[in-house]
Amino acid sequence: MTEESPALYVVPTPLGNLSDMTPRAVEALRRVAWVACEDTRRSAPLLRHFGVSARLLAAHEHNEEAAAQQVVARLNEGESVALVCDAGTPAISDPGARVVARAREAGHRIVPLPGPCAAVTALSASGLAEPRFLFYGFLPAKARQREEALRGLAGLRHALVFYEAPHRVVETVGALLSAFEPDRTLVLARELTKLFETVHSCPLGEAPAWLEADANRQRGEFVLLVSGAPPPDDDDEGERVLKLLLADGLPVKQAARLAHAITGAAKNALYARALRLREE
Ligand code: SAM
Repeated sequence: MTEESPALYVVPTPLGNLSDMTPRAVEALRRVAWVACEDTRRSAPLLRHFGVSARLLAAHEHNEEAAAQQVVARLNEGESVALVCDAGTPAISDPGARVVARAREAGHRIVPLPGPCAAVTALSASGLAEPRFLFYGFLPAKARQREEALRGLAGLRHALVFYEAPHRVVETVGALLSAFEPDRTLVLARELTKLFETVHSCPLGEAPAWLEADANRQRGEFVLLVSGAPPPDDDDEGERVLKLLLADGLPVKQAARLAHAITGAAKNALYARALRLREE
């Protein structure tokens, strides 16, 4: 494949502030013959603004497979195509992944451009210091499925990143509070890059009152971030393992030594605890 071979350019677009369009994104959009858009009516003004004259084709949730075939047909004809979504990065809680997959399967060059993404933008301003994060996207809308999903996340040490629509934000914050400890940090990143941008950080338990205090705080687009689960207390974990080993019939000294090796809890304290447990 050469630089001149047709390519599918994956092009992020601004979340709200037009100045976040990168020069490289503009260049790619001006170079291609076609732009595959999540919603052609939403993208047309943006493309006009940046002097893009490519033809548009629709690639949304409901026609993505057919759209992917169209994109591959254009690439097979030797024409380059750009893929955009309404805002942010295609394929991140947005259509686009199937278009990319089909183009790749057909042997075409995929050129990803870095750019706006609400999750990464919110994370960068969150102050959450966990070394790892888990991007979840939208939680299920139905309460039972949402609770189940949150139960599966409750013990993870990763910072958690959710997308949410304004009409569900209060309900979702309530669900987070039911599933996680109230002293975990919640960051509400609202209207990023726009006029009413707000990044508010508070203990999860205080978030419902903060949202209720001003209806404007519930408006706009949201990323919700939650700090990771607190590390298990060494002593608790040591005791849990110690009890398992003693229940399995190991002598006190050996159980204490192994529980220390497994959990890192203090060996002397484990030994003393094991003696007491044995007496009990
Ligand atoms: N592909 C996009 C991206 O790269 O971030 C995400 C698209 S997803 C359909 C839309 C969700 O992204 C919104 O419901 C909201 O959770 C989040 N979002 C988009 N723009 C935002 C903004 N300006 N401020 C906060 N969240 C935003």
